[in-house]
Amino acid sequence: MTPYDRIPFNDLSRIPPDQLEQVEAAVASVVKSGWFVMGPHHDAFERELASYLGANEVVAVGNGTDALELALAAVGVTVGDSVLTVANAGGYATVASRLLGATPVCFDVSPYTLLADPVSVRNAITANPVPPKALVVTHLYGAMAPVEAIVQVAREYGVAVVEDCAQSLGAHLNGKQSGTFGDIATTSFYPTKNLGAFGDGGAVFTDDAELAGRVRRMRQYGWTSKYRIGVAHGRNSRMDEIQAAILQVKLPYLDARNSRRREIHARYAAAVGGSARLLHGATNDFTAHLSVLVTDERDRVRKHLTAAGIDTDIHYPLPDHLQAFHPEVSEAIDLSVSEWAATAVLSLPVFPELTESEISRIESALAVL
Ligand SMILES: *Cc1c(COP(=O)(O)O)cnc(C)c1O
Repeated sequence: MTPYDRIPFNDLSRIPPDQLEQVEAAVASVVKSGWFVMGPHHDAFERELASYLGANEVVAVGNGTDALELALAAVGVTVGDSVLTVANAGGYATVASRLLGATPVCFDVSPYTLLADPVSVRNAITANPVPPKALVVTHLYGAMAPVEAIVQVAREYGVAVVEDCAQSLGAHLNGKQSGTFGDIATTSFYPTKNLGAFGDGGAVFTDDAELAGRVRRMRQYGWTSKYRIGVAHGRNSRMDEIQAAILQVKLPYLDARNSRRREIHARYAAAVGGSARLLHGATNDFTAHLSVLVTDERDRVRKHLTAAGIDTDIHYPLPDHLQAFHPEVSEAIDLSVSEWAATAVLSLPVFPELTESEISRIESALAVL
């Protein structure tokens, strides 16, 4: 390698050889079994993830957006309801709310963490003449929002809490995993997530057997038994047996991979020069799904990194309420932090298979921002 080789933002082909061997064996065994949807690996993965999370129930589904839609439907969100969500988290909760005929209502985030905070949640709930049915708390970039305090506020007003853990799987606080604080939680196994499948996948998890039961029925046409459609909002959102078998192989590596991400993130934090700050400390309530710089000179910083051969990305460039296809998102509330964040955030490569020489090149470039 020469110093001029580009450092990719992510590289999913760098699968560690021991894991690749296990994945190949798992896929071969599914192929030979002839059971391709919701088979024994699927059921076992649901149990193994539940035990990892300390949650009573895990329901595997087709992807993380379906997981949000089904979790919202399970807590009773339906046509005409409103759903509170932040505007800076990629739009997934907004899309899921829309699919249910509900209206997403955005509230602003903390300027320090870019996460939801209990004060803005309370303001958003009380600004609505009719209380919203549900609130989506997104643990953005893998950092846990102050979910205990937020849940307390939501309970006061009877608002259900859905935690979106697509970026935070494995983050934990006071011995509890992200996703086990609210009423129900969701995650995604999209290949770039911290626990990624080799295709799409997602899951809903909760301690509430009734909510889980609803999701189990809705993910398969609303069947209460085979060919009997007993509940509303049924659809097809199942996890493939091959993906479940791959996720079974990868789950035991999740904690070590999250630790490696945090180590890399901590090195960037120590190296970064004065014209930018790196969000979030390398603590256990952060998975370092993304390592994000905040700077008022983003264009210059990005050009500097590109010139050093370092690929970067922006999460996310346009807040939900400014998206062309979401004109009904309420603008009753000030969203100036979310709007500013969209101009100031810059994500660095932080995947666990970065090499030592790549990491030190990134450190050197960060030191002279
Ligand atoms: C990726 C992601 C989703 C959506 O997951 P898909 O599997 O791509 O549908 C939802 N929420 C957040 C925060 C995400 O990062």
